[in-house]
Amino acid sequence: MAVPKRKVSPHRRGNRRSHDSLKVEAFHECNNCGELKRPHNLCNACGHYNGREIVAVGL
Ligand SMILES: [Zn+2]
Repeated sequence: MAVPKRKVSPHRRGNRRSHDSLKVEAFHECNNCGELKRPHNLCNACGHYNGREIVAVGL
């Protein structure tokens, strides 16, 4: 079995993982309420998609 020659230090491990996080960059304004939402997805705030109310949001 291949074995690492040296233990990876916490600093080095942290440097490596600094690029691991996923980020969501694509956002679009909802046509109904102006809230930011993912494209091609239902609006989380008002439940509208493509000008129609898909999910009723009870407040
Ligand atoms: Zn909305």
